[in-house]
Amino acid sequence: MPEIYKFGGASIKDAEAIRRLGELLSRHDLHPRALVVSAMGKTTNALEALLDAARGDEPGPYRERLEALRDDHLAVAKTLFDSGSAAEADLERLLEELDAAHRAHCDAPYPMHYDQTVGFGELLSTTLVAAWLNEIGLPTRWCDARELIVTDDHHQAAGVDWRETCNRLQTLANEEEALLLTQGFIGATAGGTMTTLGREGSDFSAAILAHCLDAPGLTIWKDVTGVFNADPGRFDNARQLERLSYAEAVEQSWHGAKVIHPRTLAPLQRKAIPLTVRSFLEPGATPSRIGPEPGDGDRQPACILRDDQRLLDISPADFRFMDEACLGEVLGLLARHGLHANYLACEAMRLRLAINDDAAKCAALLADLRGDYRVECREGLTLLTVRHPGDGLLQLLSGDMPVVAEQCSATTAQRLFPSDACPTAWHLPD
Ligand code: ADP
Ligand code: ASP
Ligand code: MG
Repeated sequence: MPEIYKFGGASIKDAEAIRRLGELLSRHDLHPRALVVSAMGKTTNALEALLDAARGDEPGPYRERLEALRDDHLAVAKTLFDSGSAAEADLERLLEELDAAHRAHCDAPYPMHYDQTVGFGELLSTTLVAAWLNEIGLPTRWCDARELIVTDDHHQAAGVDWRETCNRLQTLANEEEALLLTQGFIGATAGGTMTTLGREGSDFSAAILAHCLDAPGLTIWKDVTGVFNADPGRFDNARQLERLSYAEAVEQSWHGAKVIHPRTLAPLQRKAIPLTVRSFLEPGATPSRIGPEPGDGDRQPACILRDDQRLLDISPADFRFMDEACLGEVLGLLARHGLHANYLACEAMRLRLAINDDAAKCAALLADLRGDYRVECREGLTLLTVRHPGDGLLQLLSGDMPVVAEQCSATTAQRLFPSDACPTAWHLPD
C-alpha cells in the first residue's frame, strides 16, 4: 500500500497551482494511493462569509457571494479545460446543490446550516483537481467523502465512527485500482447528513485515510519545507525542525502551531504511521518527519503565537473558592459553547482563561455565567506560548511589552500581551 498525500488550499489555489500539483505527481514519479484535498485558497472563509450573509436579513450579499464563488471556480475550469467541459457542468451542478442545501437549512441551527453549506468548498475543488489529473493521464477516481468518512452528528466538530469508516475505505481500496482522490474536512452521518471535522480539518481527514488503509506513511504538502520552531511567516529567523515525536508535534499543534491540525496525530500514532511535512514549492528540500521516536525538535525551544485572544477573569460571585465544583461548571459551559481555553490558570478565587475572540460564542458563555460568577473581559490580546523555554528566552522575546498574564511549567511558558504592543515581525534571540 503506497502513501496517502494531503494537499491544502494553498497548493491548489488557482489553475497554475493545480497544474503544478499534476507536474509534481508525474515528474517526481510519486505514486500515492490516495489524495486528500482541501478547498481552493481561502474558499472556506468565503463560504463562511456567504453563510453569514445568508443568515442576515438582506438577500443581496448572499447572491453576490455565491456568484463570486461560481466565477472563481468556473474561471479555473475555463483555464484548464476546453469550454463546455464536464468539469464545468459538475461545478454548476454542485453550486446548485449548495444553493438548495442553503435554502433547505436557513432556519436550522447554525452548526447544521454551516455543515450543509461550508463543506462544498472541498467538493468543488476536488472536482477540478480530479478532472485535471485525468486530463494529464493520471487515472484518478473522484470519491465522495460523505460516503466514506462516517461521523456522529456533532456538527462543525464531528467525531469519527472508525469501524464503519475503515470498512468503507478498505472496500473501496480493494475494488478500485486508480488513484483515489477525496475531500478533506467533510464526512457524513450514517444517515447521510453532511458534517465537518473542524476548521483546518483536512490534515485530520488524511490521517483517517492513512489509519484506515494501513498506509506506510502520510505526506502533507505545504507551502513551507516542514515544521519550524516558529511560524516562518511571522518570525524572520525561524528554523526548520527535521524530526519530532508525535508527542511533541501534538503539544505544538495543540498550542496553536497552525502547520498541522491537532487531531491529525492520534490516528497516526495508534498505528505508528510516519508523517512527513514537505514543500510543494520545493519538493527537493529536506522535509520534517514526525514519528514514534524522539527527534531534534523535541527539546528545542519553539514559539507559537495566537492572535485575537480574549482574557476572561472568572470569580464566584459570593466570595467562594474557585473549587472543583465551580471549575467543573465553568469548564463544562466552555465545552458546551464550543470554546477552547488556550491559556488556563487557576487561583483560590479566580479562573483566568484566554479564548479565541468569537463574539457570538463569548456572549452565550457570559450569559450562562451571569449571576453565579463575576467576569472581567479583556480583548485584543496575543498569546505567546514557548515550548522548552530555557533560560531567559521568554524575557528576551517579551522585550518591554506589557505582560497581561503569564504562567510557566517545566516544559511550557505562556504570556499574553496587548496585540497592539506586539512587533509585526518577531525575531528569535540567537
Ligand atoms: P494548508 O494549505 O495545508 O492549509 P496552512 O496554511 O494551514 O496550510 O499551513 C501552512 C502555514 O502554516 C505556513 O505557511 C506557515 O506560515 C504556517 N505555520 C505556522 N506555524 C508553523 C510552524 N511551526 N512551522 C511551519 N509553518 C507554520
Ligand atoms: N478548507 C477547510 C478550512 O479551510 C479545511 C482545511 O483546509 O483543512 O478550514
Ligand atoms: Mg490549513
